[in-house]
Amino acid sequence: MTPDIPDASSLDPTDWPAFRRLAHRMIDDVIDGMEAIRDRPAWQPVPKVVRQSFEEPLPRTARPLPEVYEQVLQTILPYPRGNVHPRYWGWVNGSGLPVAMLAEFLAAAMNSSVGAFETAPTMVEAQVLRWLKDMLDWPADSSAVLTSGCSMSNLIALTVARNARGDDVRRKGVAGSGRPTFYGSSETHSSIQKAIEILGLGAASFRRVPVDDERRIRVDVLAEMIAGDRAAGLKPVCVIGNAGTVLTGAVDPLDRVADFCAAEDLWFHVDGAFGALAWIVPGLKPLLAGLERADSLAFDLHKWMYLPYAVACVFVRDDAAHHAAFAMAPSYLSRLPAGPASYPVSFPDRSIELTRPFRALKVWMALQTHGLDAFAAAIARNVAQARRFAAGVARSPELELSATGPLNVVCFRFRPASAALTPEQEDDLNRNMLMQLQLSGEAVPSHGLVDGRFVLRIAITNHRTTDADLDLLLNRCGEIGRTLMAGASAGGDRRTA
Ligand SMILES: *Cc1c(COP(=O)(O)O)cnc(C)c1O
Repeated sequence: MTPDIPDASSLDPTDWPAFRRLAHRMIDDVIDGMEAIRDRPAWQPVPKVVRQSFEEPLPRTARPLPEVYEQVLQTILPYPRGNVHPRYWGWVNGSGLPVAMLAEFLAAAMNSSVGAFETAPTMVEAQVLRWLKDMLDWPADSSAVLTSGCSMSNLIALTVARNARGDDVRRKGVAGSGRPTFYGSSETHSSIQKAIEILGLGAASFRRVPVDDERRIRVDVLAEMIAGDRAAGLKPVCVIGNAGTVLTGAVDPLDRVADFCAAEDLWFHVDGAFGALAWIVPGLKPLLAGLERADSLAFDLHKWMYLPYAVACVFVRDDAAHHAAFAMAPSYLSRLPAGPASYPVSFPDRSIELTRPFRALKVWMALQTHGLDAFAAAIARNVAQARRFAAGVARSPELELSATGPLNVVCFRFRPASAALTPEQEDDLNRNMLMQLQLSGEAVPSHGLVDGRFVLRIAITNHRTTDADLDLLLNRCGEIGRTLMAGASAGGDRRTA
């Protein structure tokens, strides 16, 4: 023992009872916060002093854990994104289940990398994948893997499609594969284009197909585009169908796209980030007919399964094609006849990551604890809430329904019939109304452009939301909009403020 080398065990607690007491306090603080979530703002800005605290330099020496935790309590926990709050409906962010938070803690305690190894975590992921296939009526012999998000799931699926339709892409690269071309509606999520760029094919290899009045892909135009592209020497490879577009929740006619892909020998991928989960609600399933016929399906579990970040899934119908795209067999990862390295399933052979977290536990515990029917009920409730909110907007003399699909997304704006505003003034008014609402902490919708106009947008993937929460949004939009109008028509006159 050389005395000047610090004891490595100092990275563990030196006083376990004190560590345990602090850990219990953390649990109490977090659960107190969850119980009282309604009393907190849905979002609040990070104050300047707090922001500045994140500029402190790299710590070289130790500080007591209770002191570090105090800093977390003061500067970090109060400033979350807000999606745990019942009145957060921005972008597409799930609300997070308390039981899954505990699962994350347990998974971190195990600290198992879930690769090809005989462990309970690998078996739990295999079981969860079987459950998810069962849940979405996919064949038991299809391939699947959990991922960090639907962007990653889309990337994995499109890699398989590119390779399956290419010429020995893993060895030769994409140069010898003609000009592989992908198709999806103009409403397709940006992660699809990003995947195609990462695959080395260039954004121009993603062809955007126009949509109909309900923002669904025009299959007739798709057919014309593909015929034209073939004549021009391109190589159509894959069509992406949307089960719930991000902006309005539109669902492409998946059955018709599936028929078309089968007839034209094209890979059919479905991006079902949140919308795919509507499959588990009997009344909504018919909307998604054709989803079960895709060659690959990407969907999130951290959106409409309400699980904490980050967990998603991808299915690939052709198990061999999936493995052919990702399998690697270096000596140090080879299988042995017995022992930990004998496990027959290899998740790294289905994905980009080698070392992978134990994402499956939160899915497993949430499904075990609540049962699938509770998720179906929560999803059905969110859709009913969106329909009810859209009806409220349609009835309001001051609000206008800008766009809505059949699921949980509604786009709207403030537009009183009496006001004669230019389109630019209307956009400004709605932008200010949204920011004021968000800054108030009362509710967090997000925004987007529908037909070039600024709209407020809600996507309800929140199991805590009540009808009263959405009524509050409807009323506050009217009130804030009216106040802003009054301020504008008074030309900034302070007396009207
Ligand atoms: C959110 C979303 C994605 C990307 O998923 P991440 O989990 O954010 O990576 C892809 N497609 C659609 C339709 C989405 O809503």
